[in-house]
Amino acid sequence: MLEKYQIKRNFQKTPEPRGKAAKSKDNHFVIQKHRARTLHYDVRLEIEGVLKSWAVPKNLPLSLGEKHLAIETEDHPAQYLNFEGIIPEGNYGAGVVQIWDQGKLKLKSYELRKLVFCLQGKKLTGKYVLVKIEKQPKKGKNWLVFKTKA
Ligand code: MN
Repeated sequence: MLEKYQIKRNFQKTPEPRGKAAKSKDNHFVIQKHRARTLHYDVRLEIEGVLKSWAVPKNLPLSLGEKHLAIETEDHPAQYLNFEGIIPEGNYGAGVVQIWDQGKLKLKSYELRKLVFCLQGKKLTGKYVLVKIEKQPKKGKNWLVFKTKA
């Protein structure tokens, strides 16, 4: 599950973890503020030993009724939950990565095109839904994320 992640990076040049799939009982999430070519927030959910990941330009919504675009990206290793640092110029994702929030994740349901989960972080708490909005399920990377009543 981490092949795409590893192929995109030269671990001699980036401080990011190489990573391997990890086993843990509690699931976690992290949201990293990433000042790359464009500022975005990387939302990563620990599922089945890896971090399922989305780049979310406007971050997760704070209130009910807002829907934000989330762009699916490659799975990241669980070790990325604590990653902060500077990815050097010329490398994939070059720029500053800072942890914006992190905490516990409770997965409510997990389907190919729809995830329901609860976050218990320092800044974000509550129940969220991620839905893939592409008509052809195997193509495209666009999802919507919104908050829902707990
Ligand atoms: Mn990013």
